[in-house]
Amino acid sequence: MSRNGCIAVGRLPVRNQRCAPVMSKDNNHGKPAAMPASCFEPVCNMLDRVGVPRDSKWRGLILYMRSIKNYDFLDNEQKEQFQALVMEILRTRDFSDAKFHEVVKANERILAAPWNRALTRTLAETAALVQEFQDTLFRHKGGVQKLENVTVSAVQSGGDVEQTLGAIRRGFQEMVAMIEEDAEKMVALTLTDALTAIPNRRAFDEHIGRNIAVADQGQRQLSLFMLDIDHFKRFNDEHGHRIGDQALVVVGSILKGFADEMKQLEDREIFPARYGGEEFAVTLLDVAKNEAEELADIIRRKIERYNFVIRDPDGQILAAGIKINVSIGVAELLTDCPAAARDVAHLVDAADKALYLAKASGRNQVRGYVKG
Ligand code: GH3
Ligand code: MG
Ligand code: MG
Repeated sequence: MSRNGCIAVGRLPVRNQRCAPVMSKDNNHGKPAAMPASCFEPVCNMLDRVGVPRDSKWRGLILYMRSIKNYDFLDNEQKEQFQALVMEILRTRDFSDAKFHEVVKANERILAAPWNRALTRTLAETAALVQEFQDTLFRHKGGVQKLENVTVSAVQSGGDVEQTLGAIRRGFQEMVAMIEEDAEKMVALTLTDALTAIPNRRAFDEHIGRNIAVADQGQRQLSLFMLDIDHFKRFNDEHGHRIGDQALVVVGSILKGFADEMKQLEDREIFPARYGGEEFAVTLLDVAKNEAEELADIIRRKIERYNFVIRDPDGQILAAGIKINVSIGVAELLTDCPAAARDVAHLVDAADKALYLAKASGRNQVRGYVKG
């Protein structure tokens, strides 16, 4: 190699002089500046003493490693590693080509260490998250595949560390957004009755639990009615379960329509749910028992007036004007009873008793719970 030629070591070109210029740190800007030639003397002497061949690539490499440790972009660990590498060269005094190649490689490894650490950390994070995604019910096969592709191509691009990590982070963020959306849908599904699409028993339990707390805190009224379709077994026997299912859907939509209307027109909190089988529960906040009985009767009449039409799979009408009736029991969260009795179980029991009364009194009617 020529006396003034350059060799590339790591990222920096180094002049391969007999004794290359040493860079020192400029304290004002953190940038290195060339030092006068007279300053090299001690270094050159020292290299002579330890037997570094004159006029060789080794001098350039060692001087480069001594000066690079002054650069701000290296962290302390890297600086220590460069220092240790130089010390090792001077100690072993192996100035073969094979050793030179080994030192250049070690040099590259030191420079790439922060990137490798960040990459290892990110890949470990990726692996853990991918595992978690696979274990979860909200798994998105396409999403995981995409994340994997984003991660691999970001790493393979070998670009700037921050850009690469940014691309990986964006991949994760997309995935997290997808999972959050799924989780929301999943929560909605767990609270919705699959047949009628209105809130289910779980949603009712949560809602009434919250409403009892609200009523207790604000001394507000809370009423509940339990609604049961009359002679529904007979209805199923006569028309079949598929038509029976349609009847349940109709009752659900009448209840929901009523609640929506009350919310829109009067800002009332009425919460209908399918309690189970052919029974529905309706929670009414800020409604006393008497008014709840009136509202229950409006619903009872809406259902009574409804004309079912039964069609065959081709849409042809098989039967029309089919009726169903419901019985409703109404109860109110009592203000004068002990705190222990002001809970969901007591309220549902009271509404059930009233419902039983409505059934026993001939069905297709509303009855309120009477204590005693
Ligand atoms: P009552 O007037 O005393 O309430 O009589 P009923 O026949 O309605 O009451 P019973 O408890 O004897 O029968 C309830 C029926 O509701 C029996 C069951 O097949 C039907 N049922 C419950 N859930 C469903 C459902 O999801 N779909 C259909 N089609 N029928 C259901
Ligand atoms: Mg029943
Ligand atoms: Mg019934």
